[in-house]
Amino acid sequence: MGLVVQKYGGSSVADAEGIKRVAKRIVEAKKNGHQVVVVVSAMGDTTDELIELAEQVSPMPAGREFDMLLTAGERISMALLAMAIKSLGHQAQSFTGSQAGVITDSVHNKARIIDVTPGRIRTSIDEGNIAIVAGFQGVSQEGKNITTLGRGGSDTTAVALAAALDAEVCEIYTDVDGVFTADPRVVKKAKKIDWISFEDMLELAASGSKVLLHRCVEYARRYNIPIHVRSSFSGLRGTWVSNEPRGDQQVEHAIISGVAHDVSEAKITVVGVPDKPGEAAAIFRTIADAEVNIDMVVQNVSAASTGLTDISFTLPKAEGRKAIDALERSKPTIGFESLRYDDQIAKISLVGAGMKTNPGVTAGFFEALSDAGVNIELISTSEIRISVVTRADDVNNAVRAVHSAFGLDSDSDEAVVYGGTGR
Ligand code: ADP
Ligand code: ASP
Ligand code: MG
Repeated sequence: MGLVVQKYGGSSVADAEGIKRVAKRIVEAKKNGHQVVVVVSAMGDTTDELIELAEQVSPMPAGREFDMLLTAGERISMALLAMAIKSLGHQAQSFTGSQAGVITDSVHNKARIIDVTPGRIRTSIDEGNIAIVAGFQGVSQEGKNITTLGRGGSDTTAVALAAALDAEVCEIYTDVDGVFTADPRVVKKAKKIDWISFEDMLELAASGSKVLLHRCVEYARRYNIPIHVRSSFSGLRGTWVSNEPRGDQQVEHAIISGVAHDVSEAKITVVGVPDKPGEAAAIFRTIADAEVNIDMVVQNVSAASTGLTDISFTLPKAEGRKAIDALERSKPTIGFESLRYDDQIAKISLVGAGMKTNPGVTAGFFEALSDAGVNIELISTSEIRISVVTRADDVNNAVRAVHSAFGLDSDSDEAVVYGGTGR
């Protein structure tokens, strides 16, 4: 029996009962003969609550202190989980990300893992312990400061440890039974997917299906770590994410894998930009220097009479303030007229490797949105994804319409959501 890494999300450990339930499940895996390393998230909505607390104290909290605060959430759950396991008569030790050897770069609030040196974890499990690691955090290689990996980052911790420890599988336990063809909180008729490729999962995750974080899927693909996404509330088999399906994994030969939506982005429009070479470069250099990641970009046709154009782009809402401030500061050198900020948008994406070879997918997508009365504001595509930006109010309606139009609705059981607040 090999080593398994199990990750439990916040809704699985939302209260003392949840922690005890998860402890039993972990002990089962140990009794089955596995070496077990567990990665745990903060309890319930603790991270959101800590963020709100920080905002009450300071409008723009310093990155270093913000990370120090947020990592406290995972330290609470790791210690409680280790205690619960011990009270079931098994040995367990908890470790912070830093103690577990999760080494990152120095970008606070969204650090990247650059190395994992899990010597202490290896020693602990070799001595017969169940090792419990605080997710979502590490220590910077240069400043030795505590960092966090960005929202949902415990998924990445789990896969990174699984790769470093050469685990046979990384199990991600959450509050739904696996990866579905759409968010089960929005589409009750979403279908559970038995197996999905890294490629399709990467696009779904990047498009907002937060059941797995896209960095975690990227990492798993690079190190070829199979992921099993499943519920910590049911005993059901979940969704396997890997390069190739195994014999017992059903592959749906559907053109479309799923519909994803994302309401975490905002749109900035730079109004009245001189239509000449170098302007877009100057705008996006300013944004890049502020360490803000952007997603979709469009430039309107220039109004011939004025020689001016508008450039719009989307970015995480959480970085809106930083981007606006940076652009305002560069206004005199870039030379645009004004900025517009819109955080009432949603992105809806259709994902599937089958669309490469099937004509009509884009047409079908736009028809479904139009039939549902949803207006499209921006469009972007990749080989296996089409995304549009719409009004935030339209999102649920649009996702359901597209899901039905592509024949993804299940005709049997409704998708179950076991816990969580959907925050
Ligand atoms: P955890 O706290 O376990 O990390 P998350 O809230 O981050 O859980 O992720 C699980 C949630 O992801 C589900 O409750 C569901 O609402 C949402 N979700 C979005 N898209 C999908 C999808 N395609 N399949 C399953 N869940 C999805
Ligand atoms: N607790 C962190 C968050 O809420 C990390 C995680 O849950 O993965 O984003
Ligand atoms: Mg998550």
